[in-house]
Amino acid sequence: MGPGRSDLVVVGAGAAGLFACLSAAREGARVTLVSARPLAETASYWAQGGLAAALAIEDAPERHLEDTLAAGRGLVRRSAAETLCNEAPARFRELEALGVRFDADRHGHLSLGLEGGHGVRRVAHAGGSATGRRILRQLSADVAEHEAIEVLEGARAAALVKHEGRAVGVRLEDGRGLAARGVVLATGGAAALWSRTTNPPGSFGSGLLLARAAGAALADLEFAQFHPTAVVGIKGREGFLISEAVRGEGATLHDARGERFVDELAPRDAVARAIFRTLREQDLTAVHLDMRHVDPGHFPNVVAALRDAGLDPATELVPVAPASHYAMGGVVSDLDGRSGVDGLYAVGECACTGLHGANRLASNSLSECFVFGRRAALGALDDPEPADVPDGAPPEPPLAPAPTRETRRAMWAHAGLERDAEGLQPLLDDPHPLARLVARCALFREETRGAHARADHPDLDPALDLRHTVVDAGSEAPRLEEWA
Ligand SMILES: Cc1cc2nc3c(=O)[nH]c(=O)nc-3n(C[C@H](O)[C@H](O)[C@H](O)COP(=O)(O)OP(=O)(O)OC[C@H]3O[C@@H](n4cnc5c(N)ncnc54)[C@H](O)[C@@H]3O)c2cc1C
Repeated sequence: MGPGRSDLVVVGAGAAGLFACLSAAREGARVTLVSARPLAETASYWAQGGLAAALAIEDAPERHLEDTLAAGRGLVRRSAAETLCNEAPARFRELEALGVRFDADRHGHLSLGLEGGHGVRRVAHAGGSATGRRILRQLSADVAEHEAIEVLEGARAAALVKHEGRAVGVRLEDGRGLAARGVVLATGGAAALWSRTTNPPGSFGSGLLLARAAGAALADLEFAQFHPTAVVGIKGREGFLISEAVRGEGATLHDARGERFVDELAPRDAVARAIFRTLREQDLTAVHLDMRHVDPGHFPNVVAALRDAGLDPATELVPVAPASHYAMGGVVSDLDGRSGVDGLYAVGECACTGLHGANRLASNSLSECFVFGRRAALGALDDPEPADVPDGAPPEPPLAPAPTRETRRAMWAHAGLERDAEGLQPLLDDPHPLARLVARCALFREETRGAHARADHPDLDPALDLRHTVVDAGSEAPRLEEWA
């Protein structure tokens, strides 16, 4: 194949993108990987807790499925969750075979962590709380060494290129055109649209806007997960995430009076909201996480990061509050990552298969990256030979601009842990296109479900069970859809 042509263009070098590249290259495909930011600035690299898979003897994919369905609050697309739960163990073994060394107990058996919403220990981790870093280092080294994979670092996709209705490639910001049979978007989530976030600044949903401009539908944008325990008020560590696994190992949460106020292992939305209410009722900026009795050796990078910032979690309480963490919504995609546009696939956090429903079960997202990253990569190889994509100017103004500070603050203030119509309404005029769509979807869903809490509609509406909020390309009006 000539320059600028390959079988697959993968946009994004997080867990989903890297795994998709390797899966395709292993089948003999030539792959071009486009990555805007350095490895250490992907959400995947920052992942702490681990990846969920039914690996324990007492566990089974069916139990993993039950927990995923329960966390998703009546909105999980069962077929997607079944795919994840059935295939996660095999992808875990594949990572092991690639050389990722997951933590073992002192008998040499795989050590599995417990996180909120999981009925059994199911979360495989590496280097304690350095799971993402360990996995990404291995995958990126493999990608860099693979002769069938060309890596374009510091290259940002500015648009998708279509020919006769199919996605046939990508236009980079510098005008280069890349042609391929299929384009896999693995651009990560949109949590950094909110000002207080655990995510790197690049997670503002650029892939969603590129896909939308190419004709793909987006869904479930109102479901933004807020992580309960991100650091508050420690210089240089604002928003730093303290893994759920720390609570799995016995860390507790305390209000201003030093009292516990929530079951620390309840699903994320419940814990985050309990903290949010406690902050409001007691007029606080943070509650306290007591991890003094947790073995620091289990969470070396959390402990080191806090100690570097001058707080020793082995002897002091850690001030924490919720922060925007994960986007359940994204590009509507099927079980092989296919969007509504032929040749265009979305995997990882930028996709919405319906797997997470209204609330992602902790540690299902890394597993999702591997399970669906692979499926999409293999699916795309059956697409037709690539057309030509000549170089040309990128769209102006940009299709996926970074949000301004004002947008991010407005999102935090009005589309945060609790929303209402009065706050959401002004966001409909926000200059950022994705902020507007999130507000539209949040206004449209007049109920409280999982991560979406409407102060003016505090109850779950059973009529909305299994009904996803879809926004078609070219429209800003959401509609409801059930997915098989
Ligand atoms: C602090 C933290 C801890 C977490 N812990 C866990 C955990 O323990 N377990 C778990 O399952 N999940 C965890 N998550 C969530 C999980 O890490 C993410 O959902 C997942 O890693 C997303 O992977 P991804 O490959 O989809 O995207 P990312 O890892 O975000 O990668 C996105 C990539 O796309 C690139 N990109 C974006 N736009 C463009 C563009 N236009 N052109 C070119 N490149 C582009 C970026 O540069 C980046 O390379 C955590 C998240 C955070 C932030």
